[in-house]
Amino acid sequence: MLKKNEDIIYWIGDSLYLNITNRCSNKCYFCFRHFWDGIAGFRLKLSEDPDAEKVIEELKEHISKRRWREVVFCGFGEPTFRLDCLLKVTRWVKRYYPFLKVRLNTNGQALLLNPGRDVVGELKAAGIDSVSVSLNGHDEETYNKVCRPEFKEAYRSVIKFIHELKNADIDVEITAVNLPEINVSRIQDFANKVGAKFRLRELLLVIY
Ligand code: SF4
Repeated sequence: MLKKNEDIIYWIGDSLYLNITNRCSNKCYFCFRHFWDGIAGFRLKLSEDPDAEKVIEELKEHISKRRWREVVFCGFGEPTFRLDCLLKVTRWVKRYYPFLKVRLNTNGQALLLNPGRDVVGELKAAGIDSVSVSLNGHDEETYNKVCRPEFKEAYRSVIKFIHELKNADIDVEITAVNLPEINVSRIQDFANKVGAKFRLRELLLVIY
């Protein structure tokens, strides 16, 4: 049972964020979760994953409070661990608030977390508008050192996921954290090559 002071929904500026799990398949050494319980006054540590109905119930309470620019799946964990919840909530937003953009912030390991499923096709069909993929490594060795993934083929799978998203015509942004181990220009070159946007993030306050 979720505790009262655990936040599934939080907001920063005009973006409404959904925190649907604390599970993650990486253990990035810089991860904000190691140092803080939340962000901007919200408590993002959860005692359990909320089901889609609970997320929708909370959304109903907050979605009309302000003219939000977007709804973003991004919390203290990897949202694609909860693919069915993510899809159900996205379909609900798109049904009742079709003008709202829905973004997924992810570590890019959805294909490994959901084997046998057409993850990209399902994201597209549900109405996800854009995906922001965290790629904290200019090569496999660096990625493994920085992100310490559970899956040994994680880096290759993230690259595959990015290509699949582009092929499905989903708006893709690749982000990298400004860390000494990372050759940022190589990641930026890769983003340019695949036709994705690129955003460099400073270490402070990084969830993804
Ligand atoms: S930074 Fe993101 S991908 Fe890395 S451990 Fe934290 S939640 Fe997972």
